[in-house]
Amino acid sequence: MGRPRSGGAPAETVTIMQRIETKLIHGGADGDERTGAVNVPVYLTSTYRQSGLGENSGYEYSRTGNPTREAAEKLIAELEGGAAGFGFASGMAAIDAVLRLYGAGDKILIAGNVYGGTFRILDKVFSRFGMRYGVVDSSDPASVGRAISPDVKAVILESPANPLMTVADIRAISEEARARGAQTIVDNTFMTPYLQRPLELGADIVVHSATKYLGGHSDIVAGLAVAGDEETAEKLRFIQNATGGILQPFDSFLLARGIKTLGVRMDRHSENALRVAGFLSGHPAAASVRYPGLEGDPGYELNRRQASGAGGMLSFELGEGWDLRRFLSSTRLIALAESLGGVESLMCYPAGMTHASIPPGVRREMGISDRLVRLSVGIEHADDIIGDLEAAFAASGA
Ligand SMILES: *Cc1c(COP(=O)(O)O)cnc(C)c1O
Repeated sequence: MGRPRSGGAPAETVTIMQRIETKLIHGGADGDERTGAVNVPVYLTSTYRQSGLGENSGYEYSRTGNPTREAAEKLIAELEGGAAGFGFASGMAAIDAVLRLYGAGDKILIAGNVYGGTFRILDKVFSRFGMRYGVVDSSDPASVGRAISPDVKAVILESPANPLMTVADIRAISEEARARGAQTIVDNTFMTPYLQRPLELGADIVVHSATKYLGGHSDIVAGLAVAGDEETAEKLRFIQNATGGILQPFDSFLLARGIKTLGVRMDRHSENALRVAGFLSGHPAAASVRYPGLEGDPGYELNRRQASGAGGMLSFELGEGWDLRRFLSSTRLIALAESLGGVESLMCYPAGMTHASIPPGVRREMGISDRLVRLSVGIEHADDIIGDLEAAFAASGA
């Protein structure tokens, strides 16, 4: 039937690629057509020659469009299953752009456990321009639904959310929101599209701090937004160009490069985190452990329904008999540091670092005790991570 193409497979055996492991590597703009380079080059150019008045190559100015940034944007749109993706200079710049879809008089609901910066930008920046916000409990979709008054235009949530790895029912909340004319925005930083695709679950917009797992190597600060529909995409495209907080070409290249290994990294992150969570569960130095991949965790069942893995983030409470300060300075492999999602294991102390600005009483109400430690489990050998924890427990025990 079909003639074999020279040196290639017969046309009818060429299948349309669709599995996410393959999309991670070949999705978006795959390579460079002009030279055959297997990677999209870093287009370090601010402008593009026009062949005549009103005649251009599709690019005019790099704030508006740059081929390297576009490659990363097309890739994330494909991975999340959205209409279009947009690259920004940081996760916060992406969230800022998404919030500009709304205006004075509009109310945004945020889950009580969203990233501190998301709360801060609404509380301290958008509030000055007449936008309002309310805080909801994303572990209770019905109560979120009840909080959606006619002025509510969007609900922002994360799942699992920091630092207790609380899982939110993305499908149920999206349905509550849609029924009342509000959009659902999911910050998918912790799971990535490899493990969870919020748009498929009914959300409208996805945002990422690509600084974390997508970049994956703790070497860039980057943000992404993905619109589920064309209308939202058109508005975000306008906002991105009008406000200009774009992702630079070299960082776009590093981001797309990081995403190629996302699948193998997330598999190992999840595997290692489960090993570490299991170790901690059986160790007297951990008074409690929270990891949605651990059977018996409050989020276990729900996470299994909406995600294909539990990722690399977990938290535990250090037992009373262990000195917290000494523990935090005793690990040798695991670095005490902000951020997460890189190949290296990191540890943070929420009460004194990420959640320090929240009053102690409110913190305790949120379930964040002064002995809580958060781990971003890296892709080192699990035995080495566990060995490091064991040694630090021994050094800080009574
Ligand atoms: C880090 C983070 C952000 C902010 O992203 P930046 O790249 O630091 O601006 C937003 N959401 C979550 C869940 C994060 O972890």
